[in-house]
Amino acid sequence: MAILVCGGAGYIGSHMVAELLEKGEEVVVLDNFQKGHHDALMGGKLYCGDLRDDVILSKVFTENTIDAVIDFAADSLVGESVVEPLKYFENNIGSTVNLLKAMRDHKVKYIVFSSTAATYGEPDNIPILESDKTFPTNPYGESKLCVEKILKWCDNAYGIKYTALRYFNAAGAHVSSKIGEDHRPESHLIPIILQVALGQREKIMIFGDDYKTEDGTCVRDYVHVTDLASAHLLAVKRLRRGEDSITCNLGNGKGFSVAQVIEATRKVTGINIKAEMAPRRAGDPAVLIASSDKAKEVLGWEPKYASLETIIETAWNWHKGHPQGYIK
Ligand code: UDP
Repeated sequence: MAILVCGGAGYIGSHMVAELLEKGEEVVVLDNFQKGHHDALMGGKLYCGDLRDDVILSKVFTENTIDAVIDFAADSLVGESVVEPLKYFENNIGSTVNLLKAMRDHKVKYIVFSSTAATYGEPDNIPILESDKTFPTNPYGESKLCVEKILKWCDNAYGIKYTALRYFNAAGAHVSSKIGEDHRPESHLIPIILQVALGQREKIMIFGDDYKTEDGTCVRDYVHVTDLASAHLLAVKRLRRGEDSITCNLGNGKGFSVAQVIEATRKVTGINIKAEMAPRRAGDPAVLIASSDKAKEVLGWEPKYASLETIIETAWNWHKGHPQGYIK
């Protein structure tokens, strides 16, 4: 039985494909290459196409014996989603609805869905539990929360079992340094800091220093991309054992401020990275830190690359070896 990875050529998707291949799984990838990279794929049977295209979906499910789907295909930029909400609702909800229709028609029963800490919005409690209130402060989080609700109703109606994984801040790169993070344009904190270290940018702009945190900058829970991938495989295996639908956080349970991440990156790289204060970015909550006790208990998940230094070091190794990212 094969696992279909939608968005498998993207940042997290490509690390997922690597993890599945390393663990001997049969992999089928569907990616529209709007943001994905051919060189990010370590293997698997590739289909180029969009989740909103019924013809390609039908071909993928007819030509392969797929029992589980892992869905990463989405737009995922908080700031952009505030400016272009309809793009997020159309793509993030529309794509997964289409995928679910194809799964229903082809009797595929398991899906692991890429959700986000942004479903919580401004949290009341830290660390955040899965049972805490969900009140997104940006359309990206809203679109993912909406899909989580859709999944619940599809389980109810069609018996499609799901695991929704709410990631905190995905970061780092594969330990082989063969694959890593390459968004165009780049907007994520750690790759941008590393671009400054490489001399490709003059400075890192810190978005807001007046948050209610120790040093005034936003606090996030950074989690290694390979650890995220391992959680997805555990989730597939759990669904294959016939277990019920669940939602789990994935983070390391430790928060680091933007200023602390910059300082840690200076230490890892040995380079004095220039930073400057800038206004807040719309839609950013002050603090997001996960409780991942549920993932550990229910999935048996144990992050292997939990320290911030290791996360930054693997990212640095990738960026040093691929200063222009994946060459098109
Ligand atoms: N951030 C920043 N400067 C940048 C990029 C990001 O200060 O150039 C901050 C951002 O406001 C957030 C944190 O870094 O508080 C992590 O942002 P990122 O975009 O990496 O991930 P997100 O939290 O949006 O998923």
